[in-house]
Amino acid sequence: MEDKLIDDEARLAAARRLNIFDTPRERAFDHITKLVKMSLRVPVSAVSLIDEDRQWFKSIQGFDVTETTLERSFCVVSIRHRQPTVVTDALSDPRFCNNPVVVGEPCVRSYAGAPLILPDGYQVGTLCAVGFEPRTFSHEELSVLTELAGCVVREMELRERAAIDEMTGFMSRAPFLKRLEAVLDHYRGRGTGAVLSILDLDHFKAINDSFGHPVGDRVLQAVAQTCRDVLGETAQFGRLGGEEFALMIADADLHGAVARFDALRRAIAAIRFDDLPQLRVNASFGVAALNPVVSTVPIWCKLADTALYSAKQSGRNRVMIAGATDAATLAATGRTLPFADQVDERRLAALTEEIMAGPAY
Ligand code: GH3
Ligand code: MG
Ligand code: MG
Repeated sequence: MEDKLIDDEARLAAARRLNIFDTPRERAFDHITKLVKMSLRVPVSAVSLIDEDRQWFKSIQGFDVTETTLERSFCVVSIRHRQPTVVTDALSDPRFCNNPVVVGEPCVRSYAGAPLILPDGYQVGTLCAVGFEPRTFSHEELSVLTELAGCVVREMELRERAAIDEMTGFMSRAPFLKRLEAVLDHYRGRGTGAVLSILDLDHFKAINDSFGHPVGDRVLQAVAQTCRDVLGETAQFGRLGGEEFALMIADADLHGAVARFDALRRAIAAIRFDDLPQLRVNASFGVAALNPVVSTVPIWCKLADTALYSAKQSGRNRVMIAGATDAATLAATGRTLPFADQVDERRLAALTEEIMAGPAY
């Protein structure tokens, strides 16, 4: 348990899994920091999360900043302790007397920080109370702070749960699209490097109609599991809606990614249920790689969606690539793989322009 206090890499990974850094302010967290301010009678209170090279505030009262360097952070010290860290006079505390926020503006003098402990034992930040005068904190005040730190963790868990689609375990639509934004930012300028596919189950309504909705649900779960089995943990999985999923593979070229999506298409077609031997599931895929003309997530999705539409139009149960030449389109019948070099850049650019002029995704 104690090694979780010093394993910075694992702690950082736990913090990142929350998908909370750089998200907008949320009322639930602001309520808690306001309560800290009132109940501990401090001018400043914050929910501070420790990132690789900064502390970032999910909520802060009494001070107008969103992040600071770790050098200025008290919380980076308090996440090493299971119990609240208390500073009664920063100037006479060897841990903090040289801290820039103590020797200079805003002249912090007192501090109480309760660690935010995730259920898996990692401490990702603190709920803290900060003052500009030396002072003590009573046992009762520290208990209140610790209880409220528990509330912060529960809020973070609720947030996380809402981001996950319960039936499939995939990310829900909005957080998945947000994840794509981050991927697009990461690869911006390089033009390539991540491949997105939108897949839609074929004639799924007929499966519901013939076997009933509960069987339809089992199919959705089996397809989701097959996606994970075939693509592995390196892919990102989203449920965009009903029987429509989005899959994103980073650090991949189009050719390699298409091969993996086609393997997934075959694995879905091979799904069998012991109690329903006649049930068959197929899916159609539209694929779009990042390229220099893809400038926004809606355009990227619409490119994949357009290819998906072609896959449906030309007979379903196949993988189609946005901007592919006719030769590649013909090859993409599921028997022969389409090749990345058959994607025509001019055609892709024209398609993108068409998409930009059309309705939003
Ligand atoms: P296509 O091959 O053109 O995609 O045909 P389709 O029947 O798959 O498409 P359509 O959009 O007509 O029907 C999708 C169906 O998916 C309708 C809806 O009731 C069903 N569906 C959506 N979400 C769920 C769900 O969570 N569970 C179940 N069982 N069915 C769902
Ligand atoms: Mg469908
Ligand atoms: Mg659909």
